[in-house]
Amino acid sequence: MTCKGICVRYKAQKPVGTGRYASGQRRCQICEIFIKWEGLWCPCCGYRLRTKPRNLKYKAKLRARVEADSIEAEAKAVEVESVAKTTKALKQLKQKQLKQLKQKQLKQLKEKKKQLVNIVQNHMCLLINTKTSVKKIQTMNE
Ligand SMILES: [Zn+2]
Ligand SMILES: [Zn+2]
Repeated sequence: MTCKGICVRYKAQKPVGTGRYASGQRRCQICEIFIKWEGLWCPCCGYRLRTKPRNLKYKAKLRARVEADSIEAEAKAVEVESVAKTTKALKQLKQKQLKQLKQKQLKQLKEKKKQLVNIVQNHMCLLINTKTSVKKIQTMNE
C-alpha cells in the first residue's frame, strides 16, 4: 500500500468555520492527506480511510460541533413547526372569520328581504284599502 499520487486530485481544502471530519472529509494515513471521497477506502492507495479524528481534543471539538449542529437543527425544526402552526392557526381563524362574515351578511340580507316583503305587503294593503274606499265613494255617488 503506497501513495500513487492519485489522491491529490481529491485533495480537500480546509473548511472555514467547521472541522475537516465534520464537513465530511476523510483522511488517508498512508497518503497523509485529507480528501473529499464518499468511499471507505482510499482511491489512491486502497487503505481504509479515517472518518473520525483520532486525537481526543479534536474528538471533543467534533462532538461539540455535532451537538451544536443538532441543537441548531432542532431549534430550526421547532421554529419551522411553530411557524407552520401559526400559519395554520391564522388560516383557520381567517376561515372562521370569513364564515362568520358570510353568516352575518346572509342574516342581514334575510332581514332586508323581510323588511322589503313587509313594505310590499303594507303597500298592497294600502292599495286594497284605497280601492275599497274608491268603490265606496263611487257607490255613494251613484
Ligand atoms: Zn495517495
Ligand atoms: Zn491513500
